[in-house]
Amino acid sequence: MSKNLRESMFSELADKQLFEQAQTFAFDYADKALSRNVFPNEVAISQLQQFDEPLPEPRGNPAELIQQLHDYGSPASVSQIGGRYFGLVNGGVIPVALAARWLADFWDQNTPLYLSSPIASKLEEVTESWLKDLLGLPDKVVAGFVSGSSMAIFCGLAAARYRVYQNADWDVNQKGLRGAPPIRLVASRGAHATVIKAISLLGLGIDNIEWVESDSEGRIDASQIPKLDNSTILLLQAGNVNSGAFDDFESICEKANKAGAWIHIDGAFGLWAAGCRRLQHLTVGIEKANSWSVDGHKTLNTPYDNGVILCSDREALVQALHATGSYIAYSENRDGMLYTPEMSRRARVVELWATLKYLGKSGVDELVYGLHERALQFAEELTTAGFEVLNQVVFNQVLVKVGEATETEEMVKRIQNSGECWVGGAHWRGEPVIRVSVCSWATTETDINRSVAAFEVARDAK
Ligand SMILES: *Cc1c(COP(=O)(O)O)cnc(C)c1O
Repeated sequence: MSKNLRESMFSELADKQLFEQAQTFAFDYADKALSRNVFPNEVAISQLQQFDEPLPEPRGNPAELIQQLHDYGSPASVSQIGGRYFGLVNGGVIPVALAARWLADFWDQNTPLYLSSPIASKLEEVTESWLKDLLGLPDKVVAGFVSGSSMAIFCGLAAARYRVYQNADWDVNQKGLRGAPPIRLVASRGAHATVIKAISLLGLGIDNIEWVESDSEGRIDASQIPKLDNSTILLLQAGNVNSGAFDDFESICEKANKAGAWIHIDGAFGLWAAGCRRLQHLTVGIEKANSWSVDGHKTLNTPYDNGVILCSDREALVQALHATGSYIAYSENRDGMLYTPEMSRRARVVELWATLKYLGKSGVDELVYGLHERALQFAEELTTAGFEVLNQVVFNQVLVKVGEATETEEMVKRIQNSGECWVGGAHWRGEPVIRVSVCSWATTETDINRSVAAFEVARDAK
């Protein structure tokens, strides 16, 4: 590297101007984000062409680059930190968690090992124990801090795969899948797309799934679960991605435990119900599972990317995910890479730790219940306005329809284009629906009023 380039970077680090510039822009963004259109307008989208250029030969000007990002990037972002984005299951962001992330960004930690980051190792250890306490999981549970539920589910199923093959005296790490004894997968029709993806990534084969029908709310039909045994991985969910419904864990898990089956619960957004007194009835029995996946970045409103795999079988998780090498020095302390597929990772636990410490148990309770209350309000106001709500709103999800199928589909587009709020479409029990996910702390009663009004305008505009 030329002396000149290094010196530029030293001076950028020393004089802080770039960071002050970025901070000014970030604050400007935050001030506008609550009131602006939710999805970028057409001008903002067309100006994204500003980024179309070949990789330049000469070095760029750092201040200009940050300016470009703010001028053309900020307006083309989705206003995710405001209270009227109801797509996917997208949480907002808890301010102190964002501030903690800013600080930790300067640390630039890599967190595979205690020896690469004692602070990350400590916060992972503490957060792991807080999560067990909050969610009511057994003491022996270990946690891996990953990018999101897609990865957490992959990890849970990797641990399950290790264990059920081990039950059949087959070391899947060494021998692989060729010639392996059969194992079984049992999942409901309502299983999330990322569960299916994990099954294919792990070489278990989607065609090998023994499908179980779900009931009208999207819960697995317990009476149709086939006989289980210790070669079976059973997939349950806390929070159906469309309806928000929870499987009946208590009775299903008891049977599965007796049979020696491995139970994984996909609790991406719903597992947090266990930390909410008035919604805990939804998660009774979850402690009987073997692994759980959950996101910080949904219901808990941490910044992205924040997912957790929790597993009661430490040996299986570590066997499935660990790596060895002469330069990898494990320690007496917590070494995070034992519990994740990645080796290098940023210290994402900082945001989860900050969120939990800031909210405390009472704040988690309030946050989660607040999302539920706003979803109930949404459903009630929509019903009053003549829309049809198709699901029982047990958590934060509302499924809505209006008139014929094509009308519902067109309405989704009109609502999205209005900029007033953003909702997605989905198919529910064979028909198109408008799918509402209330997942941000920032959503107020007024945001719901305003969004319902946008629904009415979109309906009447046909
Ligand atoms: C969002 C979601 C996932 C995937 O989680 P990511 O964090 O987006 O990877 C899996 N299952 C359910 C039920 C979800 O809602």
